Amino acid sequence: MQTNAHHTGRAHCDGAPVHYERHRPEQTTLYRLVQQHAQSFFAQSEEAAGARLPQFVRDEFDAFLECGILAHGFLRLRCGDCGHDKLLAFSCKRRGFCPSCGARRMSQTAAHLVDHVIPHVPVRQWVLSLPIPLRLLLAAQPELVTPVLQVVQRVVTRHLLDGVGLKGEEGQGGAVTLIQRFGSAANLNIHLHCLVLDGVYRCGADGVPVFVQAGAPTDDELHALLHTVIARLMKMLTRRGVLVEEMGQTWLAEPDADGDEARTLRPLQVAAITYRIAFGPRAGQKVLTLRGAMARFGLARELLCSDIDGFSLHAAVRVQAHERKRLEQLCRYITRPALADERVQLNAAGQVELKLKTPWRDGTTHLVMSPLEFLQRLAALVPRPRLHLIRFHGVLAPNAKQRSLVVPQGPPKDEGVPGVAASGVQCEAETVQARPARISWARLLKRVFDIDLQRCPNCGAGELRIIAAILERPVIEKILAHLGLDPQPPPKGRVREAGLHFAA
Ligand SMILES: [Zn+2]
Ligand SMILES: [Zn+2]
Repeated sequence: MQTNAHHTGRAHCDGAPVHYERHRPEQTTLYRLVQQHAQSFFAQSEEAAGARLPQFVRDEFDAFLECGILAHGFLRLRCGDCGHDKLLAFSCKRRGFCPSCGARRMSQTAAHLVDHVIPHVPVRQWVLSLPIPLRLLLAAQPELVTPVLQVVQRVVTRHLLDGVGLKGEEGQGGAVTLIQRFGSAANLNIHLHCLVLDGVYRCGADGVPVFVQAGAPTDDELHALLHTVIARLMKMLTRRGVLVEEMGQTWLAEPDADGDEARTLRPLQVAAITYRIAFGPRAGQKVLTLRGAMARFGLARELLCSDIDGFSLHAAVRVQAHERKRLEQLCRYITRPALADERVQLNAAGQVELKLKTPWRDGTTHLVMSPLEFLQRLAALVPRPRLHLIRFHGVLAPNAKQRSLVVPQGPPKDEGVPGVAASGVQCEAETVQARPARISWARLLKRVFDIDLQRCPNCGAGELRIIAAILERPVIEKILAHLGLDPQPPPKGRVREAGLHFAA
């Protein structure tokens, strides 16, 4: 029997080996923290704020506790080539802090962007960071991200058209933007990563778009572009009534302070943006830090990076047309999840030590928080449902006329999801009795990632086909017990005794 490093196998009833993920999510530090402290965290923040946390935040914690746990149900897949079976637990597929869903989404999104969206032309990354008051504004009113992004796109497209000497109607740019919600310390830091085609498409005589490369911006040009972006953002936000100009000063209008969300989630967001603690005995204080690295001195001026009044625009990263692997790495970087399991550890005193991806300039390597303070930060990372975090502009916009003429066609068909995408999944008789009547295949498939359905873990080549959905407790227990796995889901924690759970 062959097994690879990430899977393990065991003989099933009929003698065929079965694969399932050896990774046990319930054994990670992050899982245990959420399991033990989520209820106390809800109670603490709701008591302190006098209002209920938004349901989508509570749901995120609940779904995380079921993510990847076989005892909550799974799909049984079989390889068409070698006959191998694989058990696939359902994923929460949430976008806030689940590391395993974040990593899968990163892989899936990056591959999709490279194979099906970004044309084979040079691409420049433009990163816009915002001053803290605007981060707060966008966290509280995520619908404002769209007009902010439009301003940035217009300014950059105008710059590219000017650079190649075309008028507005003569050419079209294209971009994919990732709205990233966090910084390296799992702090809330909404900023924009735009992968902009480094040039424009000019319509050729035969209607076929021709790509015209742009030159690199100079530092002075970048500085001027940032000035334009800031001026237009201020104008747009003032027009919408979120900025108020008075006596020559600009103020952020107080957002609607009523409603449960404003009272519970807003303080969490403010704290997570300013590296502070929202509720509990240390409310308002800065998060503690550990320094394990040498402080870096001096402010080396970065090339192609401009800073004005808390805004920054960075445009130094460029990928050439043929560097598709590098492009995929860049796509992975900008779609990476907020947390990785190994960055979350407990110290001997029971505090959470969150390792930074890269040490800060002052040498800080870790942030130290109580479990409840850490959960406050996780809650702030949860995006509102249906908020699209990837946007397409110009020639790459979903409705753009030229889109189909410029996007890559992707690898040959076999990279798809075999037996799932087109045919709507055929299933064998045993499946039908194993699933509750009213759960459709479409809904079940929404609970797993395509990448988990693509390749046989045993032979590496065969197509996996879903042969059953195991959703009923007695069947789940029977199969897991047979495989020597724990048939019971991990218990969900309860609110600790009063008085205990507010002690940090
Ligand atoms: Zn998940
Ligand atoms: Zn196989």
